[in-house]
Amino acid sequence: MAYTRRNFSTRATIDVSKVFGSGSFKLVYAGTYKTGQRKGQSCVAKEFKSGSVVEEHYFEEELNICAKAQEIINEFNEAEIIEQEIHPNKPEIWTYTGGRKSGQKNLVEPMITNFEKFNSNSGWVKQNSNGWTVVMQALSHFSYHNSGGEYLLCDLQGGRYSDGCVLSDPVIMSKDQDCGPADLGMDGIMSFFQRHRCGEYCESSWSKPPIIGKARIPMTQGTSMQAYLTTGRTRLPLSRAIKNRPSPILED
Ligand SMILES: [Zn+2]
Repeated sequence: MAYTRRNFSTRATIDVSKVFGSGSFKLVYAGTYKTGQRKGQSCVAKEFKSGSVVEEHYFEEELNICAKAQEIINEFNEAEIIEQEIHPNKPEIWTYTGGRKSGQKNLVEPMITNFEKFNSNSGWVKQNSNGWTVVMQALSHFSYHNSGGEYLLCDLQGGRYSDGCVLSDPVIMSKDQDCGPADLGMDGIMSFFQRHRCGEYCESSWSKPPIIGKARIPMTQGTSMQAYLTTGRTRLPLSRAIKNRPSPILED
């Protein structure tokens, strides 16, 4: 069973006159779906900050990371550690068909209301952790244990809904460091666990890497980047201005 939040649409109008949000690697614009089940609902269109030369590769890599994250989240849901479900947003590559960005590709996915960040790829955890924040730390720990120490799903951010939580843009860190620019490899995984404190949803039997010495990656709320981009800028929430009450994932 897939726990996915999809576009259910093929067309949207995007307001490219102003940047709605900005992450470490992407600019985000807001828009409205024009067709399908989500007609009239809000969406976001993300584009990479870097030039178009490497974009093709980035889009492909992004979708691969999303697919892997989906697998991990499916396994977490199926392990029934919590009663509610976690649904990652599934971005699709769409192309602008008019305006100054005509022909440019972007990643479109449903807007998340009440956007918040639960942890980062350096082991930062939201203060006053409770509820979903504690669950998300368990999801990160679970991903490492369940993959036999190959992967760590982190940089978890999204929104709470009445029947679950939606995530967007997670990072996977891997032993082989082959999961994109935010994958800090074993240094990142070790740093994460040096700062991780198991909460009520972690099981004591779950494996951890052996912790030796101090964390090598500085702790930042934003996504830490690899050597060629070392600053960890704080991500802007995607929907800071939207104060809607949580609604069900599939009906919002
Ligand atoms: Zn834990």
